[in-house]
Amino acid sequence: MTYVITDACVDRTDRTCLDHCPVDCIRPGERMLYIDPDACIDCGACEQVCPQDAIFFAAELPQDRQVFLQVNAEFHEGVRQRGDHPHVAALPRRN
Ligand code: SF4
Ligand code: SF4
Repeated sequence: MTYVITDACVDRTDRTCLDHCPVDCIRPGERMLYIDPDACIDCGACEQVCPQDAIFFAAELPQDRQVFLQVNAEFHEGVRQRGDHPHVAALPRRN
């Protein structure tokens, strides 16, 4: 299993979670951060510190955010590309 970052992080890149991950498996795109599901050890530290409540245990993802399981995984499959996952890049800007 893994934890998953969702759209509540988009355009809110304070990066608080980065400093709390013990295995350094959270990586930044341009508009949000993404968790590497193969490296995440399910400790839950990131979920507890996220000010946007953007992070969920995969098994507890709300129905309307299920797509972000795939988005986080696919970002790391293409991690050498710059920018964001296409699903995130297409979301409307938030101020
Ligand atoms: S702490 Fe939450 S809102 Fe901040 S960068 Fe991490 S996932 Fe995004
Ligand atoms: S659950 Fe733990 S290991 Fe997984 S991304 Fe969050 S802080 Fe890192």
